[in-house]
Amino acid sequence: MRLTIRTNLAARILMACADNPGRLLKTAEVAEMCNCSTNHAAHVVQRLHIEGFVSTLRGRAGGFTLARPADAISMGAVFRVFEGDIPFAECFDPETNTCPLSGACRLKRYIERALDAFYHELDMVTLRDLVQGNCGLSALLQLKPSMPENCQP
Ligand code: SF4
Repeated sequence: MRLTIRTNLAARILMACADNPGRLLKTAEVAEMCNCSTNHAAHVVQRLHIEGFVSTLRGRAGGFTLARPADAISMGAVFRVFEGDIPFAECFDPETNTCPLSGACRLKRYIERALDAFYHELDMVTLRDLVQGNCGLSALLQLKPSMPENCQP
């Protein structure tokens, strides 16, 4: 199993937003922080905006920021948006499935259960859980003028 790059970028971008509350982030600075192209970051930000995770302000002074509190964004919800339209196995998409075993395959059921467990774990993690007290992350994101108080190892 491997996450798509856009899912991983979505998580990185949301962590950058959560770690810089009240600040409008620029796509270019986030792209640099997340080690991706500005174009790639822009596509992910656009999807995050469409799905209601970030709000944007256009113009020279514009940028984007979280549209909801970090503790109201579960990582399961984010992953479902970015991974949900990609079938995990060929048979998960009846429109394009060509697997000759799909009529009698028991494996599919177990994969579905494994995926449910995967998303269940992520549903219990909020964006705030990822950033709160995470001094190492704040140091890497480098948009704050100083370290937050109450840093935790
Ligand atoms: S082998 Fe089973 S799980 Fe894999 S694609 Fe075919 S039907 Fe689906």
